[in-house]
Formats: sequence, C-alpha cells, structure tokens
Amino acid sequence: SDARLSDYERISVLGHGNGGTVYQVRHRRSTQPLALKLFAAGDPSAAREAEILTLAADAPHVVRLHAVIPSASAAGEAPAALALELMPGGSLAGLLRRIGRPMGERPIAAVARQALLGLAALHALRVVHRDLKPSNLLVGDSGEVKIADFGAGKVLRRRLDPCASYVGTAAYMSPERFDPEAYAGDYDPYAADVWSLGVAILELYLGHFPLLPEGQRPDWAALMCAICFGEAPEPPAAASEEFRDFVARCLEKKAGQRASVAELLEHPFVAEKDAAGAQQALAALVAEADEQGDL
Ligand code: ATP
Ligand code: MG
Repeated sequence: SDARLSDYERISVLGHGNGGTVYQVRHRRSTQPLALKLFAAGDPSAAREAEILTLAADAPHVVRLHAVIPSASAAGEAPAALALELMPGGSLAGLLRRIGRPMGERPIAAVARQALLGLAALHALRVVHRDLKPSNLLVGDSGEVKIADFGAGKVLRRRLDPCASYVGTAAYMSPERFDPEAYAGDYDPYAADVWSLGVAILELYLGHFPLLPEGQRPDWAALMCAICFGEAPEPPAAASEEFRDFVARCLEKKAGQRASVAELLEHPFVAEKDAAGAQQALAALVAEADEQGDL
C-alpha cells in the first residue's frame, strides 16, 4: 500500500530550497523521526530524485529514501513528497552558519573523504549529482556525511553522455559547464562534480563563498567572470600543503586535468588512517552547533 502524507506527523521545518520545503516529521506508526521533502505540484525534480535515490539505495554516504508519497490527484503524476532519512546535524551550510566561524582542516577532511566515497558510488552507477554544495551535504551526530538533493541529478545512459549545462546552482558550476563552447572537447560529466566539491570544501575553510569577494552578489556575470576568466581560487598560504594541493586538484580549470574521484580518495589530505579522528572533529562541531541552538 502507498505511503500517504497523513502517515507522518509534522514536527518542524528543516529547510527551504528551490524545490520546496523539508520538514522534520515522525512516522506515526513506527514513531521513527524522518525528513519529509515536499515538492511543488508537478515538480519534475521529484520523480528524478526518487529515481536516483532508489537506484542508489545501497550507495554509502547517500541519504536514504524511506518512501515515495504520490500526489493525491492522478496516478503517473510527479510524487508529492519523499520521506528521507533524517540527518540531525542538518546541512554543512547550516553548520557553518551556526558555528559562526570557518571550519578547520580536520573536520573538512572528514567531509571531503565521505563526499568522495559517496561520489564514487554514484558515479559507478552513472549518476552525476550536478548540484554539490554545502547545503546539499548533510551531517549526522557522529560526523557522518551524506550527499542529498538529487533534484538536478542525472543518470547517464553512456559514460560520456553530455549533460545539459545549466542545471544546479551556477555558483558551484565548473568552467566547462558554465561555458561549454570555450571548453569544447574537454568534457567529462563526472569531473564537474569534483569541481563543485572543491568549491564547497574551500567555502567551509574560508567561511564564505570562495569565488567572489565576500559580500558580492553572485549574479550570473560576476560568476561567469570569476569561474571562466579568473584564476582558480586557492586556500591561503597558512593552510597545510596537503589541503592546498587537494583543493588545487579539484579546482583544476581544465576538466581533463582535474583529479578523478578515485585519485582524490588516494590523496594524503583524506588519508584513511586519520579518518576516524577527522570524523570525530566533525562530530564535535555538530555538538557545538547544537549548543548554539537555532540562532
Ligand atoms: P535547493 O534547491 O536549495 O538545493 P531543495 O529544495 O532541493 O534545495 P534539499 O536541498 O533537499 O531541497 O533540502 C533543503 C534543506 O533542507 C537542506 O539544505 C537541509 O538544510 C534540509 N534537509 C534536507 N534533507 C534533509 C534531511 N534528510 N535531514 C536533515 N535536513 C535535511
Ligand atoms: Mg538543496
């Protein structure tokens, strides 16, 4: 039998996005706390997200799909809502805001490593995310990180199927997606996710979006200028050599020279031997943010 909205009791609002609103809910029968993502009527990203999360049901570091709630009106219409695993630490964008200062390299290494493991599994399924950014990376209380929000995702039929360029958030878009003509012949849909991850990680380190001066509105022209004509941004000299190199390998402007997910998983910045400690450092930030409350 199908899941229905009335199976869930609304607790609070977790976040708003372009797609709709995400609520914390409780499944009435099991009392399990979950996240419920409600879509605007007929939003095609609902079906896409449901399809990808079903395909990635066993992928590590990808948010779990609990149920698809069909729209009340007609069969075959886009789903009305998705019941998702609740990630109690919220998004990394929210975490950064709540702690009120940039994140250190250790917790960032936990983010990078786990996001890469998620991306590796997704890419093996021929799924490209196309909208990686801090608000789409979710954290749990023990510092686990999961990739969420597949509203802009795509399942490629062939490995190098071109992807429509202008989906997702322009700010995190790679040069070759922003300006396909200028970068013609240098195209790999998976490499675009690596660029976005690099921008997101640098944002966590700096505490603000790295491609524009702090406070500048990320309008299309400013982004185009920064992403396609500017030098790739880099961490300051005070950062460790490992971190600087890791970011540089992600933010290689030529997609063909950018590190692959597999290569980055071998990078010393995300070394496996430090993984548990790095994850604890991230968990400590989640606990700290909880103490700040919802400021
Ligand atoms: P956008 O268009 O801004 O990327 P969206 O409408 O596609 O957003 P999501 O990114 O899926 O929606 O969710 C919006 C916000 O809700 C997230 O940034 C996060 O703060 C919160 N959120 C989403 N899913 C969960 C979850 N499973 N657990 C906890 N919080 C969540
Ligand atoms: Mg989102």
